[in-house]
Amino acid sequence: MANSLGLGLIGPTIIAFGTEAQKKRFIPKILSAEEIWCQGFSEPNAGSDLASLQTEARLDGGYYVVNGQKVWTSYGWVGNWCELVVRTDPNAPKHKGLTVLLIDMKSLGVEVRPLRQMTGESEFNEMFFRDVRVPVENVLGKVNDGWNVAVSTLMFERGSYGARLHPLFKRNINRLIELARQFQKNGHAAAQDLLTRQKLAQCYAEIEIMRMNQLRAFSRITATGAPGPEGSIQKIFWSELNQRLQQVAQEIFGPFGQLLGGDSQAVDKGIWSYGYLRTRGNTIEAGTSEVQRSIIGHFVLGLPKSY
Ligand SMILES: Cc1cc2nc3c(=O)[nH]c(=O)nc-3n(C[C@H](O)[C@H](O)[C@H](O)COP(=O)(O)OP(=O)(O)OC[C@H]3O[C@@H](n4cnc5c(N)ncnc54)[C@H](O)[C@@H]3O)c2cc1C
Repeated sequence: MANSLGLGLIGPTIIAFGTEAQKKRFIPKILSAEEIWCQGFSEPNAGSDLASLQTEARLDGGYYVVNGQKVWTSYGWVGNWCELVVRTDPNAPKHKGLTVLLIDMKSLGVEVRPLRQMTGESEFNEMFFRDVRVPVENVLGKVNDGWNVAVSTLMFERGSYGARLHPLFKRNINRLIELARQFQKNGHAAAQDLLTRQKLAQCYAEIEIMRMNQLRAFSRITATGAPGPEGSIQKIFWSELNQRLQQVAQEIFGPFGQLLGGDSQAVDKGIWSYGYLRTRGNTIEAGTSEVQRSIIGHFVLGLPKSY
């Protein structure tokens, strides 16, 4: 989907925290995908522990001057704008000295380098900021309240991404059932193999559960205007389900499943071999499964904090 980060998480954060001028400037072009957005959160030493990030922004007249490095930035190579989390008060406790800036990726001093993934593509990037000047009007939310803003973005990401993915998963399971009739297993069609049938039915049922979870998340957003920690349930569920689904596909296709796009015998032009490799990242992106389980333990179940 074009501009998925703008539509799914950054646009909603601008609606929640932005000034009227920011909403007017950015939202229409997010909706039309005229401006593509990326999310500059992770750093080489700040992923799960995001609040440890070191990219700094120093106030200089009407500008913040940004220096530092981000990593794993999806769509950094194509992004027009970036929601960037920076440290504006190095002396404050780590969660208190952060600010979110909206950065024009064409600004002087921004460098984007590709990172090659095991799928062969370079969907995400490293980004370097050297004395990048960002007007103070581009602060999103309050200065030094960036943790709050960034966590909201992550909650929108976890609470709404399943809606975008559900039709894709549904299409994949329907296609897989079709292919199971064509591929052979133990001398007959894979669709007749009892274990394969059970696994396909299990995936089908779980994709329906994913839809229900998404409706629950939307009910919460509709009622309160903001996603809740339950979004973490959906995030774990879809990411692990996607890995199970791709695993079943590989079991059905046998060695053909490993052939990459471009090979004349690759199944569906290689989308399944690509999917198998790409889903490994699902349980890492938008916060790892371990981190989601900690959030559910503490904020949903009321257990003591684990760290
Ligand atoms: C496909 C993909 C796309 C991404 N896109 C973006 C993007 O657009 N923008 C962006 O900013 N980032 C992006 N990321 C980065 C992603 O958010 C981080 O990789 C993720 O938060 C984990 O951080 P890390 O890689 O530094 O691993 P670490 O935080 O170093 O974690 C390493 C391991 O330790 C575990 N761990 C760490 N802390 C704890 C804890 N407290 N309790 C239990 N276990 C723990 C983790 O679960 C993991 O298994 C993307 C990542 C991937 C894979």
